Amino acid sequence: MIVVDAHCDSLTRVVNNNKSLIRNSYHWDVSRALRYDGFVQVLAVFQNPDKKRPTFKDAMMYINEAKKIDAQNLTIKLCNKFKDIEDGLKAKKVCCLLSIEGGEALEGKVENLNAFFDAGVRLLTLTWNYANELGDGAQTQQNGGLTPFGVEIVKLMQQKGMIIDISHSDEKTFEDCISICKAPIIASHSNTRAICEHPRNLYDWQIEAIKATGGVVGVNFYTEFINNSEKACVSSLVRHIEHVCEVAGPDTVGIGADFDGMNSLPDPINGVEHLYLVFNELGKLNYTDETIKKIAGENFTRVFREVLQ
Ligand SMILES: [Zn+2]
Repeated sequence: MIVVDAHCDSLTRVVNNNKSLIRNSYHWDVSRALRYDGFVQVLAVFQNPDKKRPTFKDAMMYINEAKKIDAQNLTIKLCNKFKDIEDGLKAKKVCCLLSIEGGEALEGKVENLNAFFDAGVRLLTLTWNYANELGDGAQTQQNGGLTPFGVEIVKLMQQKGMIIDISHSDEKTFEDCISICKAPIIASHSNTRAICEHPRNLYDWQIEAIKATGGVVGVNFYTEFINNSEKACVSSLVRHIEHVCEVAGPDTVGIGADFDGMNSLPDPINGVEHLYLVFNELGKLNYTDETIKKIAGENFTRVFREVLQ
């Protein structure tokens, strides 16, 4: 079974702490991802605006670190096109896609999107929690929606074959983005408001809108987004998967664990080595193997095949 995880902050965490992406004691590393039949990981470049204003230059530094890791290790493959993912999986490598989490890193310049694309970035999370040059974030709502620059970036991303990620966006920004999109849109790491009321989680109408684009919602393993607390179990995480299935069917849900982007995971998950427990839980709930495969990876793979040319 191929596993796709649409979001982790492991790249920035290991670079910031001078650790290895291949083997570490954090939530995610290549050696543990290799335990699965096949693994595709979206590596986010995340710069926390609470610490320092994110910059284009720093984002490029993380991207260059990822390229160094790729050049020095045969077990990982940075992918630009869908064909790269197919080849990497055949060669039993952990396939990685680069993403920028937070449009702040564009610094308001279209040419920076082009530079990110040329450097191999294939996904952009339009906002983090705050408003930026593209639009409003989930925790700073000015009801302005997408700015003209945000509209320009969304359109350009679609022309270039990049995936638009609306996790962290506020509702108006989300709506504006959906109204101009012509390709699948994803929420790489977001849960459901019906199960857990949190500004980072999605309303049912948003889940339906993502489905209408052919997109996917990646469920987030952070306990705060599972049940508003510091403790949760795998079955409470799976309730979010079940809810997306109820609202939009089994083709609209995947995994976006947010490994290394937070500090409390559902019991007894410690990291990527325990991701399979989610699939076991779905099996216990009588989900068919075919459906579990879709949730584990095929749904996101479908989006990658469609968008990444
Ligand atoms: Zn995030």
